[in-house]
Amino acid sequence: MTQAALDIAFKDVYGRAPEGAWAAPGRVNLIGEHTDYNDGFVMPFALPHTTRAAVARRDDGRLRVHSADMDGGVVELRVADLEPGTASGWATYPAAVLWTLREAGHDIPGADIHYDSTVPVGGGLSSSAALQVVTALALTELHGLDLPRQDLALLCQRSENVYVGAPVGVMDQTASACCTSGHALHLDVRGLQQRQVPFDLAAEGLQLLVVDTRVKHAHADGAYAQLRSGCEASAAALGLPALRDVAYPQLDAALVALPEERMRRLTRHIVTENRRVERVLALLDAGRTREIGPVLTEGHVSLRDDFQISCPELDLVVDTALAGGALGARMTGGGFGGSAIVLVEEDRAAELGETIARALPQVRRFATTPGAGAHRLW
Ligand code: ADP
Ligand code: MG
Repeated sequence: MTQAALDIAFKDVYGRAPEGAWAAPGRVNLIGEHTDYNDGFVMPFALPHTTRAAVARRDDGRLRVHSADMDGGVVELRVADLEPGTASGWATYPAAVLWTLREAGHDIPGADIHYDSTVPVGGGLSSSAALQVVTALALTELHGLDLPRQDLALLCQRSENVYVGAPVGVMDQTASACCTSGHALHLDVRGLQQRQVPFDLAAEGLQLLVVDTRVKHAHADGAYAQLRSGCEASAAALGLPALRDVAYPQLDAALVALPEERMRRLTRHIVTENRRVERVLALLDAGRTREIGPVLTEGHVSLRDDFQISCPELDLVVDTALAGGALGARMTGGGFGGSAIVLVEEDRAAELGETIARALPQVRRFATTPGAGAHRLW
């Protein structure tokens, strides 16, 4: 959408011009699933798909939000009434961000915001993080605040943990806030050290397909909290701060020490997944991009069998892709639906995409390359 179109949409809703517009991307996680809340490693990259926000300040203590992607018109909230656990509907996300900014001491009195997104909503590609990050970036920049990007991501995570009430890790928000075009982002969540890793698929003659199954199984949110607490209980049973502290060579000893089968499965996934992130990092650094394929597939098997968060649709995409000649494939994101990624030779990508669509006619699929992190548009 052009500047004019977004400005006109804002004017239609609020009867005045916006003061600026910002964009924040959705993300694909290349490797490192559920490792973020275990203090481990992740490697997401930003999608070219973004959520845009046209914004103007208000000084009357009101937050008004409107989304081209949601029915129901403008949602108006009194900033003084914002309180964790009280809101419902999509406006909870921007309300949570504003509440968290104010809690952190940033005196932002209110705003009018109009959103418009190309990120598939509910597809496991973090439209929710794009919405949070674009809100946080727009509100801080409009009020003359220059927060470091990682701090912005932590603030958005806190808004989701405390206000929305979902115990998510920091990967999605960090990806949306910090990724750079042409790179995957290697993040060590414990120390929050970041490294931008060149990830140029076209130069290697490769394509990465994103396949959104368009299914989201109902128990996903409750299951996430149980997985997180299961991982924390496993670390506690081992006398460690987090499962990140189980080094790969100590995995067998840790498995023997754990009292329950479920703890052993969760631990095996996290420890092997952290190792897979480091293997993918080493392969990309060495320019051996093709060879990450089997590592991605191993990640899927681990999520399916050990973490047990895949679903028939995701397994069918992965199995069909591999049978059709993909170099590697795996589910990506939190699980129980959402999207899979498929690494494939460029000259086979179109045919493979059609093969997958024949197996699962409802899928939405697109080839992607790493896009830019959140930024001001004008
Ligand atoms: P995902 O992050 O994988 O897309 P989630 O269920 O975590 O899926 O987040 C989707 C929710 O985020 C939506 O139900 C809505 O509440 C909110 N959301 C995302 N994008 C938008 C948008 N463009 N406009 C309004 N709300 C949005
Ligand atoms: Mg989300």
